[in-house]
Amino acid sequence: MNTINFPKEIISCPNLCGGLWSEGHGKSVDIYSPYNGKIVGSFKSSTPEESKVAIDLAQKASIKWKKTPIKERTQIMFKFREILIRDIDLIANTVSLESGKIAPEAKAGIMKGLEVLEFALSLQNLDSGAKMEVSRGVHCEYRREALGVVASITPFNFPAMVPMWTIPIAITLGNAYVWKPSEKTPLTATLVGAALIEAGLPPGVLTILNGEAETVNAIIDHKDVKAVGFVGSSKVAKIVYQRTTGHGKRALCLGGAKNHIVLLPDADPTMAGNGIADSFTGCAGQRCMAASVLLAVGDTELHIEKIKERAIETTIGSKMGAIITKEQVDFLNIAIEAAIKDGATLLLDGRNQNPGAEYENGYWIAPTILDNVKAGTQAAVAELFGPIISIVRCKNLSEAINIENSNEYGNAASIFTNNGAAAEMISQNASAGMIGINIGVPVPREPFSFGGINQSKFGYGDITGIHSLNFWSDSKKVTTKWQTQNDNNWMS
Ligand code: NAD
Repeated sequence: MNTINFPKEIISCPNLCGGLWSEGHGKSVDIYSPYNGKIVGSFKSSTPEESKVAIDLAQKASIKWKKTPIKERTQIMFKFREILIRDIDLIANTVSLESGKIAPEAKAGIMKGLEVLEFALSLQNLDSGAKMEVSRGVHCEYRREALGVVASITPFNFPAMVPMWTIPIAITLGNAYVWKPSEKTPLTATLVGAALIEAGLPPGVLTILNGEAETVNAIIDHKDVKAVGFVGSSKVAKIVYQRTTGHGKRALCLGGAKNHIVLLPDADPTMAGNGIADSFTGCAGQRCMAASVLLAVGDTELHIEKIKERAIETTIGSKMGAIITKEQVDFLNIAIEAAIKDGATLLLDGRNQNPGAEYENGYWIAPTILDNVKAGTQAAVAELFGPIISIVRCKNLSEAINIENSNEYGNAASIFTNNGAAAEMISQNASAGMIGINIGVPVPREPFSFGGINQSKFGYGDITGIHSLNFWSDSKKVTTKWQTQNDNNWMS
C-alpha cells in the first residue's frame, strides 16, 4: 500500500488576502480524502464582498510589484523553488491526501511544476525584449509590461502542478495573482501560498480565495482583474471564457479531453503495452492527457494482451490511486454498464474493488478495459475521467484517423508504430494540440508549451512555456528620437 500520513485533526483552509491568512464567511465546505472517504479538511467560502476586498488589495500591491525590476522579482522565485524542494514530501503527501494520487505521482506533479518555475527563472535572460535603430537617430523598442491583477481557476486533479503552470510565469512577469483552487483540493494551495510568503513575496501579490462558482464569478467580474486563466472541464471552461470575454477581458480556458491512441501491428508490443496501460491508469485516469480510446488497427492481439498484463499489475492502493469522489465512482460504474449494453465486451473489470479494510470506504475502481466499443457510443466519445480504456477496432489507418477527427476534444493523440510514414500521418492529421509518437502521455516539457485545440481550449495561445508570455503581459512598442534630423522624415 502507498504510504500516506493522515492528519490527526481536520485542517482548516483559510484565504490569503493582503498577505494575511483569514477565514471566509460564506458556505462551509468539507474536504474528503479519496483514500478512505473521511473528512480531512474544511474551509468557509469567500463571500463576494470578501473577494472584492482581497482583489482591491491585490490591485494596490500590483502597482509596486509591476515596477520592481524583473531581476529582483526573480530572486524571490529562486527562494520559492528552494522552499518547494525542501518541503516536497509534505506537499506531495497533501496532494495525495486530498486528490487520491499515489506518492510518486504527487511528487512528479510538483517536479513538473518546478520545471515551469525554472522556465520563469530564465525569463530575465530569455525575454529581454528588442531594440534597434530603425532610422538615423530613431529607435524602436519592445517592452513587456505586466497587466496588473490576473486570476487563475484550477481543477482538482493536479493540486500543485496545474497552479504551478501559471503562478511562476504570471508573477515573475510582474502581475499580482489571484488564485481560486478547486474546492476539492484546497489544502495544497495553503502550502504553496505559505512557501511564496516565506520566500519574501510582498503582501497582496498572491491572493488565495477559496470557494466555488460564486467566488469565481466575483473574481471574473472585478473591474481590476485583467486576465483569467482557467483549467477544468470543457463545460465550465466555456462558461468562464464567455463571462470573462463578455467583460472585454482576455481569457485562456483549458477544458476536458478524450485522447485517442492509434495502435498499429508493427509497434513494439512491450513498449506499446506499457505505454498505453500507463497512460490510461496513471493518476487513476484522472488527467487530461490520459489515453481514453485505443484505435486498434488490424491484428494487435499480442499488444492488447500486454496492455492487459500491465493493467493487472497496476494494483489499486499501491500502484494506482483513488477516484476523487464517490459520485465519480458511481458515474464510472454506470458508464461501464452502459458500454456493455451498447455492445462492448469487458476485457478487464475493475469494479467493486478496494485495497483493504482500512480503505474500503475510499473511492476506488481498478483498471478497466472495454473491447469492441462501437464508434459513436458514450464510451467512445464522452470524457469519463477514470482508469478505463475503450478499444475501438479499425480496419485501417484512415478509419482510425476519421474516428479521431470526429471527436469534439483536441488535447492529445498518439500512435504506437515502427512506421515513420504512419507516425507522420498522425502528426499531420490528428485533430489534437499535443501529439505522441510511441509516447502514451505526450506532455511537452519546458520550454515547449502545453495546450490543446477544439473543445479542449477556449482562447488563444498556450498556458505554459514561451507561448504563454503574451497572455500574461502586454507588449509596449516605444519609438524614440533624441536628435534633430533635418535630412529625412524618419518614416522614409
Ligand atoms: P471543474 O470544471 O469541475 O472545476 C474546475 C474549477 O472550476 C474549480 O475550481 C471549480 O470550483 C470551478 N467551477 C466549477 N463550476 C463552476 C461554474 N459553474 N462557474 C465557475 N467556476 C466553476 O473540473 P474538475 O472536475 O476540477 O477537473 C477535472 C476536469 O479538468 C476534467 O475535465 C479534465 O480533463 C480537466 N483538466 C484539463 C486540463 C487541461 O490542461 N486541458 C488539465 C487538468 C484538468
